[in-house]
Amino acid sequence: MTETLVGYPATANLSEKYQANSEGYFGAYGGAPLPPHLVGPIAEVAAAYQEAINVPEFNNELQQLLSDYVGRPSLLYFAKNLTRELGGAKVYLKREDLNHTGAHKINHCLGEALLAKRMGKKTLIAETGAGQHGVALATAAALVGLKCEIHMGAIDVDKQHANVRRMEMLGAKVVAVEFGGRSLKEAVDSAFGVYAAAPDEHFYAIGSVVGPNPYPTIVRDFQSVVGREAKAQILEKEGRLPDYLVACVGGGSNALGLFTAFLDDESVKIQGVEPAGEGLEGTRHAATMTLGTPGMLHGMHTKLLQTAEGEPSPVHSIASGLDYPGVGPQHADLEQQGRVEYVSVTDRETIDAFLKLSRTEGIIPALESSHAIAQVIKLAPTLGEDQIIIANLSGRGDKDTDFVAEWLDEHGE
Ligand SMILES: *Cc1c(COP(=O)(O)O)cnc(C)c1O
Repeated sequence: MTETLVGYPATANLSEKYQANSEGYFGAYGGAPLPPHLVGPIAEVAAAYQEAINVPEFNNELQQLLSDYVGRPSLLYFAKNLTRELGGAKVYLKREDLNHTGAHKINHCLGEALLAKRMGKKTLIAETGAGQHGVALATAAALVGLKCEIHMGAIDVDKQHANVRRMEMLGAKVVAVEFGGRSLKEAVDSAFGVYAAAPDEHFYAIGSVVGPNPYPTIVRDFQSVVGREAKAQILEKEGRLPDYLVACVGGGSNALGLFTAFLDDESVKIQGVEPAGEGLEGTRHAATMTLGTPGMLHGMHTKLLQTAEGEPSPVHSIASGLDYPGVGPQHADLEQQGRVEYVSVTDRETIDAFLKLSRTEGIIPALESSHAIAQVIKLAPTLGEDQIIIANLSGRGDKDTDFVAEWLDEHGE
């Protein structure tokens, strides 16, 4: 099993059409449209990453932390009860919810923390929305021995108090951002401001496959361990590749984590699942791939939900990790290439999936991951019993139980 963990640069043998070009573009998307003062520091991150992934000690240290600290490889679980209930394809779950800290984010946070340490940086800086990236990064910082500073909109600080406490317990400094809409967008501006003032001291640790080149590649590569493991595990259990992969897409890191190892296997169909929220007709959704248009956001060219003036639109999802008006540029390109299909599920379908997985399998999924399960619930019955689906269970749902109970009080089961 261990050899499935080795092999950085993780994605070196992917065919060229799935790699960023020398300017960091995946087809028409990506790049690094940045203010001039950030061009140098971000180029330095790219160079340091290229150097690090060819050094055995760097890879070995990451490998060891992934196995001994995170608990990898994560299980690939055959969901027998859910499969029987849906009556169709066999459903396997990749159990990223069993990782230390309860989600996939720790995979790339540890990679970024080790890279920052290798570059001689003192502080990991990031923004966080609901606090999940902040908690995973604060965890990695504590482990690796770096300082950590997390910027968070003041509104989110109030709403997500438990995560603020966690970050502080882990030794991180949480900065409540009080200007503008006091939300995620301002948190990005605030964190970037601090980073830009002292890039020699700080490492900007992005929380998904988004932002300027090289971050979409770095985060994807660190997450790609998920798909490499899943491939070895399904070959061992079933002796063949799956027919479908399904994962939720916010920025898109858990999805690319699962998908990347299978991109060159053309028989494997791939679906990314976005939040249709309260419906695609209004504005209460975050279906960027479905309804977004090309534009620029957070140092990348990508698809986004935007206003007529080119400002990112306010978006909605019951899963705070999917509540983002943009998407990783490689997803926009994978759609363009016709390699990945993007679909959406509503809040109601997501809640139904949350309850169904909890009750059939005794696994409470994160609301983000419940989007993937909701799509599996639609897909599996349309397929034969000889077909196989692997869904990424990106995180556990303990954080969401109060919210779901309130939602059910309000909307009924
Ligand atoms: C943050 C988060 C997501 C969304 O992020 P991606 O980059 O799209 O993967 C999905 N699931 C869980 C459990 C998360 O914490």
